[in-house]
Amino acid sequence: AQQKVDPKDPQAAALGYVENTTQADKKKFPKHANDQKCNGCQLYSGAASAKEGPCAVFGGKLVAAEGWCNSWVKKA
Ligand code: SF4
Repeated sequence: AQQKVDPKDPQAAALGYVENTTQADKKKFPKHANDQKCNGCQLYSGAASAKEGPCAVFGGKLVAAEGWCNSWVKKA
């Protein structure tokens, strides 16, 4: 199985990665909004119905579909 991104991993922590977007640090990341989720991010390549999928920022490790980090970019 593919490795999951650990939110405590240094890179993940630096980007404020959380497994649920509602847990994002809104003080540290004021541009965050709860409608921003990994499954709506340009860097995510999971299937539409999947609970997790690969993220390009984390070298293809799995992130939560409902997750978020500061590299979030709206899917084109
Ligand atoms: Fe989620 Fe996008 Fe951040 Fe990857 S870059 S963890 S898909 S918000």
